[in-house]
Amino acid sequence: MSGVCHNTIIVVGVAIAIMTEDLAKTKPAKAKHIILTSHQTQGATKVVPIQWGVTDPQQRGPVIGSLRSLKYRNVIGTHAGSYGVYRALAVASGVLDPTHKADLTNTSPVVALGPHPSWSDAGKIVSLDPWGAMVGDVFTNYDSEEYDILPTIAITKAHINIPELKDEVASGRLQVDGEILKPDGSLLVTKAAIDPVWYLPGIAKRLQVDEWELRRVLFQQTGNMFPELVTRPDLHVFLPPIGGTTVYIIGDAAAITDPDRPLAVRVHDECNGSDVFGSDICTCRPYLVHGIEVCVQTAQEGGAGMIVYCRKEGRALGEVTKFLVYNARKRQEGGDRADAYFLRTECVAGVQDMRFQELMPDVLHWLGVTRIDRLVSMSNMKYNAITHAGIEVVERIPIPPEMIPADAQVEIEAKKASGYYSENGVLNEDQLSEVKGRDY
Ligand SMILES: [Zn+2]
Repeated sequence: MSGVCHNTIIVVGVAIAIMTEDLAKTKPAKAKHIILTSHQTQGATKVVPIQWGVTDPQQRGPVIGSLRSLKYRNVIGTHAGSYGVYRALAVASGVLDPTHKADLTNTSPVVALGPHPSWSDAGKIVSLDPWGAMVGDVFTNYDSEEYDILPTIAITKAHINIPELKDEVASGRLQVDGEILKPDGSLLVTKAAIDPVWYLPGIAKRLQVDEWELRRVLFQQTGNMFPELVTRPDLHVFLPPIGGTTVYIIGDAAAITDPDRPLAVRVHDECNGSDVFGSDICTCRPYLVHGIEVCVQTAQEGGAGMIVYCRKEGRALGEVTKFLVYNARKRQEGGDRADAYFLRTECVAGVQDMRFQELMPDVLHWLGVTRIDRLVSMSNMKYNAITHAGIEVVERIPIPPEMIPADAQVEIEAKKASGYYSENGVLNEDQLSEVKGRDY
């Protein structure tokens, strides 16, 4: 047989008996039989269709991706993004019972976010489930044991403690108010973790590609990981095995949608080397800190601030590619130079950037954002995506020059010359070739 649609075997019965005898005494039960889901007829008659963008969540239907609910699953893929693979390791190694049911007692959101009118616009949100945090409230009519509907969004509160904020308080750039920013420098936040939930027709439309072409390429480029992409036209929702997004809200969340109160936003794409470890080759952590600073100030003015943190390491090229590019930049003839900054990335990765900011505004729509008073970003791609999504941007805030590490001048000048927002002009080609970084 050839092609992608030949895996239609169902083997049950005997294998279960073997599993029970061999493993039940020592390890949690592991199902050895394989039920491939590449055809609609296999026990899928009870699937609840998802009508993406419908206002009433009951009519919209729940996202059912749990492997405990095989016959009810109405999506491709499963929960937890890339961590689904670790779950597989835990099951394979016998430490996790695959039939374990999550006890969701007391896990519901501590702050209500939404619903907003944007939740019922199939074009505005295509890469997350707007009802993902509220499944325990809106789908109570589904028998929990049978359907195992899991949240794809979790909302909690935290105190965060960032050393630079203490410096900013000491220098007078930030003021302690005792409620948002405490005297010990800790900052009160509401935070939301969001797993990706992709409505494929909407993703295709957003990227201006044919849906079936998108599904075919997703299938092929994941090493044929999800046959249903090409065999199950009845399934329109995909839980991709990728990282998600975290939103940190500073100040009163109600201010986000209040037209009379200001809102500051920084959309920040993950950079582990700088964000966590303080690597000075880029501006990521300093700009993130500046974003938090502006968010605190805006919250203290009676508004709110938001950091949207997206797991898109190294422009979504990954950290291995990123470090390869660092080497290529520093070892090239003439050393690390602003005029060759993007070229080196493109040589290694084939593209300069794979973040697809077109999907990023979904999280802003999920939060009901219609206007951003202070967008703490210089990225033209982020700005264009946000404004094309119908969200007004009043002011763009660049990183203060004094916060840019010396070795990061290469990056920032290259970005400004490529179209990033700048308040003080950009360098020409000759000047860019003079902006050089360290030799490691
Ligand atoms: Zn960085």
